[in-house]
This record gives sequence, C-alpha cells and structure tokens, in this order.
Amino acid sequence: MSFLTSIFLTNRFAELPRAFFTPVLPQPLTNTRWVAWNSALAIQLSLPEQSPQGDLKDFLAGEMVSDSVPSLAMKYAGHQFGVYNPDLGDGRGLLLGELTSKNGQVFDLHLKGAGLTPYSRMGDGRAVLRSTIREYLCSEAMAGLGIPTTRALGMLTSDTPVYREKTEQGALLLRVAESHIRFGHFEHFFYTNQMAELTLLADKVIEWYWPECNKEPQPYAAMFEKIVDKTAQMIAYWQAYGFAHGVMNTDNMSILGQTFDYGPFGFLDDYEPGYICNHSDYQGRYAFDQQPRVALWNLSALAHALSPLIERGALESSLGQFESKLSKLFSKLMRDKLGLHSKLDRDSQLFQSMFELLHQNSVDYTRFMRELSNLDQQPTSVVEDLFVDRQAAKTWLELYLARCDCEVNQQGEALSAQDRCEAMRAVNPKYILRNYLAQIAIDKAEEGDFSEVHALAELLKQPYAEQPENDAYANLPPDWGKKMEISCSS
Ligand code: AMP
Ligand code: MG
Repeated sequence: MSFLTSIFLTNRFAELPRAFFTPVLPQPLTNTRWVAWNSALAIQLSLPEQSPQGDLKDFLAGEMVSDSVPSLAMKYAGHQFGVYNPDLGDGRGLLLGELTSKNGQVFDLHLKGAGLTPYSRMGDGRAVLRSTIREYLCSEAMAGLGIPTTRALGMLTSDTPVYREKTEQGALLLRVAESHIRFGHFEHFFYTNQMAELTLLADKVIEWYWPECNKEPQPYAAMFEKIVDKTAQMIAYWQAYGFAHGVMNTDNMSILGQTFDYGPFGFLDDYEPGYICNHSDYQGRYAFDQQPRVALWNLSALAHALSPLIERGALESSLGQFESKLSKLFSKLMRDKLGLHSKLDRDSQLFQSMFELLHQNSVDYTRFMRELSNLDQQPTSVVEDLFVDRQAAKTWLELYLARCDCEVNQQGEALSAQDRCEAMRAVNPKYILRNYLAQIAIDKAEEGDFSEVHALAELLKQPYAEQPENDAYANLPPDWGKKMEISCSS
C-alpha cells in the first residue's frame, strides 16, 4: 500500500504467540477529522509536521489497514480496586504497530477508541471526545513538566454518537509509548498458569527494554528491580508535583514507570493530601497521599505474578527498597523545588512543616511554590498573602530563608537569591493542567470550537516559562472548578 512507503511500521508484539493478543481490525468512525496533531512529536517520529491527510490519515484514524503489519488487542488482566479481574485486555484500543524515532528508539502506536475487541466486556469499544481531550492534554502537560509519561500524537473527533450519561461524540486518541506492557500482562499469565508465556514475556521485556539485565546473574530479578526503580521515580514525581492518577489499578501500571491510562486524574489545587479525584473511589483507595502505598501494593502483586521466575528473597529485597528509593528522589525533587541543593538533616522538618501549613491554610500548591520561586523579585508578603494564618507563614518563611542562606554556589560563595530563584523557576511550574482549564476547553470543543484545546496544548509545552500573554491560565480555580471529581465513564 502506498502509505507504507511514507512510514516505516513494525510490530514485534504481533510476532508473539496468540496467547498474548487477538488480531483485531479497527472499526472506523464516521466523518473523522483532526482535533489536534502533535507536530513536535510527529517530527521526532519522522511523521509529517502537519496533520496528515490522505492514506496516512486514513491509516491513523483506523480507516485503512496495513496489509503487512496487523493491528491487535493485547490481552492482560489486573487488580482493580484491589480485586483481581481476569477478563481485561485492550477493550477499546488497538496496537497499530511500532514507529522508529529519528534516534532509533522504537515506539508503540496505539489507537484508543477503535471499536470492539474480544476484551470489550460490556463496553462499546469507544472513547468520547471529553476523555480523549483530557488524555491528550494531560500526557503532553506531564511531558512538558518532565514527568515520565506516555505521549499523545494526535486526536480525532467524529460524527459517531457514543452513549454515556448523555450522547457524546466518538473520538480517537493516538497514543505513543515505549511500551504498552502493564503489570497486568504478567498477572494474566501467572493466574492462568501459562508459565512458558510468562517466561517469554519477561524475556521480551528484557530484550526490548533492558538488555543489560542479561548481564546480571539473575536477569529476571534485575528486570523486577528496574520496574521497582522506575515506579518509585514516577511516584516521586507525582507526589512532588501534586498529581493524582485516580485509577492505580495494576492494569494501568506501565512496566516502564510511565504515567499511563489517563482517566479521572487531577492536579492538586489547594494542598489537600487526601484529595480524591475519582468520583467512583468511595474509600479513597487512590487518594493523592495513598499513591506511594498503592504503588508498593501493585508492585507486590506483580512480584507475586513473577514468583515462578524470581526467588522470593530477590523479590522481597527489591520491594524492600521501594520506599527508600521513592523518598530519596522525592526529597531531591522537593529540595530542588525549594532551591536547596545541599542536604541537611533538619530539612525534612522544614518540608513537613511546610506541608502542614499548606494543608491547614488550604493554600494552592502550585501557586505557593511558584511565588516562592519569585522571591528574588517580590517581597515575602506575596507568599504570606496566600495564607489565612499569616504569622505562621511568616515564621516558616524566616526559617526557610535562613536555610537558603546556608547554600553556596560552585565557587563556594553564598548563593544569590537570583541564582536560587532562577533554578527554582525551572522546576516549579507556573502553568499546570488544572481540571477547570481542561473543563473549559472540553465545553468549547463539544460545541465545535477547539481553540482552547490548542491554546492549552501550546501553553503546557512550556509550563515553567513566564508567558505574560497567558497569565490568566495561572489563575486559581473558580469555586465550581475546585476539588473536581471526575467520573470514570470515558
Ligand atoms: P480503564 O478503567 O480505562 O483503565 O479500563 C479498564 C478496562 O476496561 C480495560 O480493559 C479497558 O480496555 C476496558 N474499557 C474501558 N472503557 C471501555 C469501553 N468503552 N469499551 C470497551 N472496553 C472498555
Ligand atoms: Mg486502563
């Protein structure tokens, strides 16, 4: 087919035995058209800078298939809210194939919303415009922040009606990731007692992502340690940047530790450790402050699934290091955010009292950190103004600024406020994807006006830069947009 001359497509997953997947053709939507195309990512993948038309568009929209590279639905299982569900798999997304980036890295190209598969269960195989916009914007916002994540190459809308609480527009998301393998892939083979497949999956993960593990005395144990490492890193970023995922089921955990499957996520507005963004999470299992604990629980579920391949001692040893790895990176990220590069024992007290104050005074987390990053240009009263208890804020600020005075630059001289703050502005975003901003963009998009989607996508590419023309996007949420809980129906 002619379009195949314009892209180089592979699919290593399709070469695995059938136990891993079912070949499925995408079911086209009606009158698809581009809502967004991620030019920067497209260029990295040697795709056209402008949203493709013709054959390539037809292929990416699931309206034309490759005759040589089959699209497929992956089989996986997973623990949902702590309960094992054997019946999961790609229920509405297909792996179209793999693209090789300019620097030789291989990326999965996944089309979400492509129709029914054998794993659709009660679902319709579709994705609505609303949730597609949320995933597109958030994955790109996370990438802009420097947080490990899957990416979004583009999205399309259509005239196909999709029925949720109301009738909505069917849409498609083109997701790009180094891997779509989830903890739940391993769980599926373990719980169905398919040991050859379990072993083959581990071998492929090592071959594709971490070939260096083969040099270790116990390659599978080394692979698990990598997964623990990457997961700890991802969670450290989430906690430091105030990101709540909302559905940390093991089928939504990437083995590469990339933020995966954006559903009812939310960034903290006010610093509220118990923030629950998922409307269906009645017990708060996936509340913001539970994420480190849940990640460890999920890793333990994965360890159990890997127990036929890895000795118990090695699994326990890796799991045992999770908390210290996470807290080490979290402390580093927080020190960077506060402009403290040296490490003093008393710092943890300073962090703790900061979090308590932010919580007690319901202070906006992102705004606070950004204002703190501007103390070379503004008086401390700007920060104090964010607190109800100004005196407590003043006392903390005095301690903090005294602590900053202990910092020295590479020449051993006292670090200037300007140098400190410049470094802080590079790690404390001015702009984040607040739920209310996403909601405004979605409301307009549902009326056919995609301007806010484009504006946000552009803005969030550079969340740390001052963008004076976009100052309004740094505004705190209006009352209706605070503590939004998002429904899982997507
Ligand atoms: P999620 O909560 O989005 O991570 O999805 C959990 C499982 O349900 C996965 O196996 C999905 O593929 C499947 N799923 C979610 N929504 C739909 C849908 N509309 N149609 C079919 N399957 C779905
Ligand atoms: Mg999922």
